[in-house]
Amino acid sequence: MTKAKSAMLICIASVCLLLIIGFLIVGIAEYADERRGGANTNESSPPGEIDESNIADAPTDEPTTDMPTEPQTEPPTEPPVTEPPIVLPELKMSLTEPSMSLIEGETQTVQLELIPSEGSDASLLAANVSDASIATASISVSDSGTPEMTVAAKAFGTCTIDIAYNGSVLVTVAVSVAEDYNPGTPKPLPPAPVHDDIDPDKPMIALTFDDGPGNYTDELLDILAEYDVRATFLVVGNMIKGREDIIKREIADGHEIGIHTWDHTKLTTLSPSEITEEIDSVRREIRRLTGVTPRIVRPPYGSTNDDVKAVSVAEGFLIVRWNVDPEDWKTRDAQATFDHIMSHAKSGNIILCHDIHKETVESMRLVIPALLEQGYQLVTVSDMLQYSKTEPVPGQIINKQ
Ligand SMILES: [Zn+2]
Repeated sequence: MTKAKSAMLICIASVCLLLIIGFLIVGIAEYADERRGGANTNESSPPGEIDESNIADAPTDEPTTDMPTEPQTEPPTEPPVTEPPIVLPELKMSLTEPSMSLIEGETQTVQLELIPSEGSDASLLAANVSDASIATASISVSDSGTPEMTVAAKAFGTCTIDIAYNGSVLVTVAVSVAEDYNPGTPKPLPPAPVHDDIDPDKPMIALTFDDGPGNYTDELLDILAEYDVRATFLVVGNMIKGREDIIKREIADGHEIGIHTWDHTKLTTLSPSEITEEIDSVRREIRRLTGVTPRIVRPPYGSTNDDVKAVSVAEGFLIVRWNVDPEDWKTRDAQATFDHIMSHAKSGNIILCHDIHKETVESMRLVIPALLEQGYQLVTVSDMLQYSKTEPVPGQIINKQ
């Protein structure tokens, strides 16, 4: 019995103690609330409760009839908020790839679609640009709930846009902004790579290869390395993807890279801004891969007009054509290519070939040793121009036929 009594007493004492502690906590909490400054009270007070310090700071014309008449006896208790987990929707865009190319001052709009559209809240979409000095982006949602992103290009360079849904990134879009065509500020011609192993008194020929890099370019580079000679590659921008190592090897092996436009478009059908972008897009890619800025451009089909010449002056590059055309792309015959080149071999010639054809690369196994045998030095176009002592200027067409 005494044991049971003691246990009951301990129980009652414990309950009393807990009650005292409870009252103390409530008292401290209320005291703390009263002491807190007015600035934060709006965030912590539940609606309907007004802090005294807030009232003191309130403008005088604010109605004071909302003052609570009952004393605040209970500490603020807010029910725990449990938000439902957000399921990220899929984002579809009107872009075929998550990349955009713009010209300074240009604005492009991209249609966006959330899947599923049911239950997805387009207003939760946001576009965050990595460098706002290059481009800005904003997302707007039509009354029917269709979202779209508007990108405005500000300055030359590259940046990325993260398209996020409720803070989670769904897609990252790579943005590249080209310089606007501005004939008022011509760029200087990039420096020529220096090769001082050339004898200016000996005959020289420039072998040039268009339309690559292709499936046989590596083999051609092996042949050029075997004979320790240099050539010039006029590359097409959309051929580079997946063949970046070939571009790097061309520069590492001492060859020259020129530009043959991004997608082999006839430049005379384009506006000056479009011509600039066709050339500048390849120049940026070569510079990104190799650190070297190309200085020569061969327009597809050799087609030039006053706009191409004006862009050449503005952008600082040389327009290079050819004066020997073995029509290797037409004959697709290594022997015929060899015969044509050898019958037109002359110092100062620029020979047009295509490294995307197997037969052309095969013909080089014959052409290169035969030209060396006749005493020719095989050099890059820029080497030839440098040693010809009549370095042309942008806007001038080299080897106009
Ligand atoms: Zn071509």
